[in-house]
Amino acid sequence: MTISTPVPTLTLNDGHTIPQLGFGVFKVDPAETERIVTDALEAGYRHIDTAAIYGNEEGVGRALAASGISRDELFITTKLWNADQGTESAHAAIKTSLDKLGLESVNLYLIHWPTPQQDRYLESWLALEEIKAAGLTTSIGVSNFQIENLERVITGSNTVPAVNQIELHPAFAQKDVSEFARSHGIQIEAWGPLGQGKYNLLELPEIAATASAHGKSTAQVVIRWHLQTGNIVFPKSSNTARIRENFDVLDFELSADEMDAINSLDAGKRVGSHPDDVN
Ligand code: NAD
Repeated sequence: MTISTPVPTLTLNDGHTIPQLGFGVFKVDPAETERIVTDALEAGYRHIDTAAIYGNEEGVGRALAASGISRDELFITTKLWNADQGTESAHAAIKTSLDKLGLESVNLYLIHWPTPQQDRYLESWLALEEIKAAGLTTSIGVSNFQIENLERVITGSNTVPAVNQIELHPAFAQKDVSEFARSHGIQIEAWGPLGQGKYNLLELPEIAATASAHGKSTAQVVIRWHLQTGNIVFPKSSNTARIRENFDVLDFELSADEMDAINSLDAGKRVGSHPDDVN
């Protein structure tokens, strides 16, 4: 399946394609989600990243249904929450998510966190293989997996995850996990691509200088850096102007020197939780 969109697409290791730029709905108020996702679809986004734990799958589903956009033109991701790790609960959880979304299947279903203390992610991964075989998702992947977690699912199953969705932005580039993933054909999805507004990424002089050189905002420069790095990215905003701004990144290109300047900002600064600490 190939979605027609001006956004560049990447090919996953199972042969399906994914629009490289999408819209994330973490912390989007469930009461506002339908309006905000409608704004995003009107701005041109066709890839939406949600999760059971965000509590807003119903709002996403209502916006998709009201849009009149054909299902084939949309790429929808949701995620298995930590409390639902395990075979039976994973099978139940995808059905609940699909009911809320009003969809027969999603494009991508992810294990949200490895939750090492529970130590059930391999069991959950084998359930995701079954969920894919049952046609409830087109592709399967993981999120917040470290190298040892990836190695365990690769050796313990018949499926290499299509993606690993990890915290990644210029101040936290996660080169080791990214390089390991890419060497195994796993695409990298960058969450917190703008540093979640918690890190002063958008005020850094290297980014500000590049933004003024291109007549773009600092957020647009960071999103462009992700796209040119090869990351799949879905910045979040609840503000219509910013939703449009974050999509308006397809008409300029960062030079090799500009990419190098942003690459030099990696400070190992995580803004979110360490995967070992989430259970
Ligand atoms: P983000 O880096 O996209 O930051 C969003 C924040 O950046 C906004 O709340 C706003 O404060 C600011 N912002 C957005 N657009 C801006 C603009 N144009 N100019 C200035 N500031 C702007 O962080 P995020 O929402 O955490 O990450 C994106 C998506 O990644 C989420 O919505 C979700 O779908 C996904 N995610 C996944 C996980 C996971 O564990 N898998 C964790 C967090 C997020």
